[in-house]
Amino acid sequence: ANRLKDKICVITGGASGIGLASARRLTEEGAKVVIGDLDEVRGPEVADELGGLFVRVNVADEEEVKNLFARSVEHFGRVDVAFNNAGINPTDDNSILTTDIEAWARVQTVNLTSVYLCSKYALEHMVKQGSGSVINTASFVALMGAATSQISYSASKGGVLSMSRELGVQFAKDGIRVNALCPGPVNTPLLRELFASDPVQAQRRLVHCPGGRFAEPEEIAAAVAFLASDDSSFVNASTFTVDGGISSA
Ligand code: NAD
Repeated sequence: ANRLKDKICVITGGASGIGLASARRLTEEGAKVVIGDLDEVRGPEVADELGGLFVRVNVADEEEVKNLFARSVEHFGRVDVAFNNAGINPTDDNSILTTDIEAWARVQTVNLTSVYLCSKYALEHMVKQGSGSVINTASFVALMGAATSQISYSASKGGVLSMSRELGVQFAKDGIRVNALCPGPVNTPLLRELFASDPVQAQRRLVHCPGGRFAEPEEIAAAVAFLASDDSSFVNASTFTVDGGISSA
């Protein structure tokens, strides 16, 4: 139960969905959490509930990301885990013929450049410490096409996956692990919003789920706790798939 005792874990997108469930799970296992999020209402509430720290951050902004990790180190003295998880999933991303370059660029900035920035400023501290676990949220859409039909989003998650693999290889000698987490469809506000606007897409995904259901956020949080802990000491540069089998179906 105390697998993460006193580990300092920074979680972006920690105010909702997968990030929120993970913040709760990591705290239950003994960690101290920093909630990094744009949401200035839910963010502080979650931090209060968990006895953690809230830092308002736009993960697409370099100065703000720098500040997130600086504040975390200032407050807790170190950063053991960076769960770089904040992301967006646009509802109008189904055809390259109808997306425009602004929409494309926004998704790359929020989903991929953010992971570049968060990894960079987390690793800066972790290299000095000689230890750390970086967990970057990619997606099952980086592994398959048929169930998703998203263009900018899939490209951004493919980027997260291959960058994480590269970082895991490069920083292993520093005692740091970097893994890409690939959740399948998860019952969160992000998914519910996407499906409300596109019921056909929802049905298409559900049909592809071998178990006939989506994940609950707590089922992803369990994997995050494992990757954060020393139980995963030899799991590095991996494509860590928690998708109920959808990408193999
Ligand atoms: P969510 O919408 O429930 O939560 C995302 C959180 O990120 C929110 O609290 C939001 O305020 C925050 N956020 C968004 N943009 C931000 C920004 N620029 N700066 C800081 N915070 C920001 O979504 P979720 O479903 O929990 O998704 C979390 C991650 O998991 C995302 O990267 C998403 O792409 C990925 N993912 C989700 C699913 C799914 O089916 N839900 C599947 C695979 C991967």
